[in-house]
Amino acid sequence: MSHITPSRQQYLDIKAQYPDAIVLFRLGDFYETFDDDAQTAARELDLVLTSRPQGKNQRTPMAGVPYHAAEGYIARLIAKGYKVALCEQMSETPINGLMPREVVRVFTAGTVIEPGMLDAGRHNYLAAAIVDGDRVGLAYADITTGTFATTQFHGRRTLTEELARLNPAELLVSDSEHTLQDQARTVSHLPDWRFEEGNARQILLRHFGVASLDAFGCEQKSLATRAAGAVLYYLQETQMGRVGQMQRLATYSVEGYMALDVATRANLELTESLGGERKGSLLSVLDKTVTAMGSRLLREWVSRPLLDITQLNIRLDQVQHFHENALLRADLRATLKGLPDLERLTNRILSGKANPRDVENVKVALTAVPIISEQLAVSSEQLSSHQLPAPTHQSPISNLQSLISNLDPCTEVTDLINRAIPDDAPTNFNKMGVIRSGFSAELDGVMNSSAHAREWVAGLEPRERQRTGIASLKVGFNKVFGYYIEVTHANTSSVPGDYIRKQTLTNAERYITPELKEYETLILNAEERILEIERRVFTEVCQQVAAYAPRLLQTAQVIAELDVVAGLAEAAANQGYVRPSFTNDNTLHIVNGRHPVVEQSLRLERFVPNDVHMTEKERIQIITGPNMSGKSTYLRQTALIVLMAQIGSFVPADEAHIGLADRIFTRIGAHDELHAGRSTFMVEMVETAEILNHASHRSLLILDEIGRGTSTYDGLAIAWAIVEYLHNHPRLKPRTLFATHYHELVGLADLLPLVANYNVAVAEEGDKVLFLHHIVPGGADRSYGIHVAQLAGLPKDVVNRANELLHELEQHAPTTAVTPSRLSAGQQMALFPEASPLLKELAKLDVNSMSPLEAINKLYEWKRRYAET
Ligand code: ADP
Ligand code: MG
Repeated sequence: MSHITPSRQQYLDIKAQYPDAIVLFRLGDFYETFDDDAQTAARELDLVLTSRPQGKNQRTPMAGVPYHAAEGYIARLIAKGYKVALCEQMSETPINGLMPREVVRVFTAGTVIEPGMLDAGRHNYLAAAIVDGDRVGLAYADITTGTFATTQFHGRRTLTEELARLNPAELLVSDSEHTLQDQARTVSHLPDWRFEEGNARQILLRHFGVASLDAFGCEQKSLATRAAGAVLYYLQETQMGRVGQMQRLATYSVEGYMALDVATRANLELTESLGGERKGSLLSVLDKTVTAMGSRLLREWVSRPLLDITQLNIRLDQVQHFHENALLRADLRATLKGLPDLERLTNRILSGKANPRDVENVKVALTAVPIISEQLAVSSEQLSSHQLPAPTHQSPISNLQSLISNLDPCTEVTDLINRAIPDDAPTNFNKMGVIRSGFSAELDGVMNSSAHAREWVAGLEPRERQRTGIASLKVGFNKVFGYYIEVTHANTSSVPGDYIRKQTLTNAERYITPELKEYETLILNAEERILEIERRVFTEVCQQVAAYAPRLLQTAQVIAELDVVAGLAEAAANQGYVRPSFTNDNTLHIVNGRHPVVEQSLRLERFVPNDVHMTEKERIQIITGPNMSGKSTYLRQTALIVLMAQIGSFVPADEAHIGLADRIFTRIGAHDELHAGRSTFMVEMVETAEILNHASHRSLLILDEIGRGTSTYDGLAIAWAIVEYLHNHPRLKPRTLFATHYHELVGLADLLPLVANYNVAVAEEGDKVLFLHHIVPGGADRSYGIHVAQLAGLPKDVVNRANELLHELEQHAPTTAVTPSRLSAGQQMALFPEASPLLKELAKLDVNSMSPLEAINKLYEWKRRYAET
């Protein structure tokens, strides 16, 4: 113990305060890590692990990164789930032999604000969850945009769904919570008491300076309050208290939005494809936004469909306005294109992290506002002077107008920035020129007083050349010696007596004069003062700008919305979408619907559009057809069209009338790529059970090859029973599209009145089979596979025999179903008679993959075995 150096002790003290973080300890031009942190950092960042002596015969492991490259290394650490505490030197010189050091910032995945560590097009959420029995509190915040929201609800399932929607970078839970470990990329633990209601309330009340949480809507919501308190605490903790940008807290209800479970989000490939890429997702075909703010907002909309027709029509009116006015749309988008991220910039200013370039960019963004207002105003005048057909509900113009009226050019802010910050402001404070001359009298004073000295130095070279007659004499500056006069060796004999030699180079000597040193001191002192004053004045400017934050953020929000609706209009125009209409009656009518993503990916082929018509009389469609004929595409496009409509987008169809869906469920049977390699059937059944328990009459169900993950008879039996249940349960009868390769299910339509059969049309051309991708009423032809076998040239005998066997099998297909009356009687029944082993084998036979010879052999074998029994 006695051999610990003071700086080692300082390190140990600081480390003790941040036991769960990797401490980056500033030593000169490096950030160093020690001990276990060094081992971790060396491993994760491929750094060289060194060591430094520590007391007698002891060495401390150490690994460091250059201070100017720290951001990249920190980003890599937090991406791997680590926390990083940044410990800075707080002075230029040691005090009592020790450099004062402090942790100035804790970096975690959910609290970063550095643009280089963020994706401009998406939120970076920090979430906190608290589970109490069946009740859950969930809060989330994005410190870069000031977003802060909280809610509470029943059920862990909803928690999983909300977390899937938010995809938080970091999730906070209490120390005693161990069941949420895999619910976010990074899960961080806080002591239980951080989630206690009293503490949480206190921290919120103090931060917002209010006496009650009524204004935020969570006064009576204990769990919502507790989660929000934990989020705010953690932000304060990591930002060393500087969280002025968190100015609002919104309490929301999960019931206000369409809930989408994790599997459905993934299956529908909303924001990323099943392969985890943006390409192939719905977002990738819808996102025509041209600003980061718009791109983030669209992602929110896509992730969170609405359940309110009025609200949806407001969005659709706005999209329609830009859809009808192509010129306006082009103009607006040209103005918006590449506008600086006013939302994140404002938040950086609020948090005291802005640099001069950031402030300048606020001005750049605001300068576009009057242009936007003008463009929109002109267009709505034009529009109202036209004889438009009477709008069906609200007028598109009035809905846009309410948006425009919130566009605030904040001229006070642009004036201020114009006066204070030069146009080509630097991005850091090491150089002078952060503040415009004429803005600060104090600054100008120091500038003027040093101006003479700078002029004197500037004129020194010509003056001395004249005085000495040395034409090659030069005046220069470097960090070590300051200003100097340089004379080549050849000319040193002409050097005057007042020159003092300072340094000898290979071919020149460097000199100073006492007068030069005096002026140098003046200049350097002034420079130091100027930098200091510029910093201070800049901070004041930021504070003044910060006072306008609510208006700036509101304007940023309007810009984002305009970008989103104009972008949706652009997608609609380019891709041929129409405005959907909504009803409250649980029906669905789509004329010539298309799959928004698949239609984009087709090259030579044309996408074949399909209708969907579901009424109270027809709730369940069974869709049969060969592989690759287009069943899954038809199912998914129907779900996507409903979902697109409920985010306020136009849809890929000629007409769409949509009974608002409270939820969309999609389940894809095992064997489809999604489930490859997982314990498939169990997953499939768990997911299906969820649907049966949570769907309602207003839901839309997409069931694709459910039951496929098990043996034929199990699968068929389960699929059959599921359809019966959906059909008969009084709470259910949801709109259901069920694609299946079990032709037996076709029989359900005869037994259950709300079930109808559809199949995918197929055409023969010579010996080829063409998939027309066209969905038509009726069940698929059962003998289809045998038909293909025939076309493929299987011997006639085989085909005939197969047809015979098929006919026999058909005799055993289920011909009864549980009808509502029978269900209530609770009757059980055997769906399938015990099939003979030979028949089972035949059912499993993949005729397509057999050679004629194999088929013949098989027939001989069966015949022999049949004779033996
Ligand atoms: P299934 O589910 O019946 O096996 P898919 O829906 O997966 O068939 O479709 C297979 C392929 O057929 C798709 O990848 C797509 O290329 C094409 N396809 C599907 N539907 C259509 C359509 N309506 N128009 C054009 N091509 C389609
Ligand atoms: Mg399929």
